[in-house]
Amino acid sequence: MYDIIVVGAGPAGMTAALYALRANKSVLVLEAKAYGGQILAADKVENYPAIKKISGYDYAKNLYDQIKKLGVDYKHEMVLDVTKNKTVVTSKATYTGKAIILATGASNRKLGLPNEEDLIGKGVSYCATCDGNFFKNKIVAVNGGGNSAVEDAIYLSAIAKKVYVIHRRDEFRAEKKLLKELKSHKNVKIITNSTITKIYGKDKLNSITIVSNDGKEDQNIPIDGLFIAIGQEPKNEIFTKVADIDDKGYFISEDGVHTKTPNIYIAGDARQKLLRQLTTAVSDGSIAAVTAIKEINE
Ligand code: NAP
Repeated sequence: MYDIIVVGAGPAGMTAALYALRANKSVLVLEAKAYGGQILAADKVENYPAIKKISGYDYAKNLYDQIKKLGVDYKHEMVLDVTKNKTVVTSKATYTGKAIILATGASNRKLGLPNEEDLIGKGVSYCATCDGNFFKNKIVAVNGGGNSAVEDAIYLSAIAKKVYVIHRRDEFRAEKKLLKELKSHKNVKIITNSTITKIYGKDKLNSITIVSNDGKEDQNIPIDGLFIAIGQEPKNEIFTKVADIDDKGYFISEDGVHTKTPNIYIAGDARQKLLRQLTTAVSDGSIAAVTAIKEINE
């Protein structure tokens, strides 16, 4: 039996592991994909206090190395179920813990268009820093108006010949500083008040149709790459036996850490919260771990 089992190895989960390991607890971290979670897609992080600039990959690797050195048991396994008696069932085994921290994060929201899934890896991508290099001197479009979309477009403007930014409103959620930088790139064309309605291509993406909000205009834009950066959504339905979720799938908790099940806790982007940032994810991870440690010691 482990003292603490952490589900998810993003910044929240790995920070929870860090705090638990430093309190001399045995810790198992389970992750179905790569450690790091969403931060892996960040080309650079410039808003983490006291770190002027770091790539998302380096940040994740540093945190992973830190917990490895402290003796974490890290397993690359998909969690299928968590029970009230603190058993975690994965694709490969079953584990039991005195406490469980659910730090399952969120994954990229899809547009939900026909063809979208089929063309993933064939022109459609959700990660500019992972796939941008395939589009040297090509024409790409980025969909979205948040920090991710604007950062992706800035990143791609140094690689691609032309970058369209397509956003459904005329106001951007992205920080003003980023938006200013985006506008300074001559090969970027911003199209607002428009929605992508069709994605074309058989073995390879070749164009999209966008429609203006008033429905008056629609245009076909030939592109080689489409980077969809329209936010994230959680996937917490499998945990509803032990934790409540809201209508969007985020964990609900009165204090942001406890669930309806004793000794099962939540942390990070997977929960209802005001701000989903690296700083708030690591804050959640540390609070969940310290709370879990205190309560299993009692
Ligand atoms: P986000 O801030 O939620 O922005 C999502 C964008 O996609 C919004 O502009 C939204 O439009 C649009 N959108 C949502 N659903 C759509 C749909 N079905 N069709 C078309 N457009 C759609 O997501 P994010 O940019 O991924 O950022 C997530 C969080 O991470 C934010 O808190 C962000 O600040 C943070 N982040 C921080 C950094 C950084 O600080 N360096 C970098 C990346 C992300 P509306 O505006 O019209 O809703």
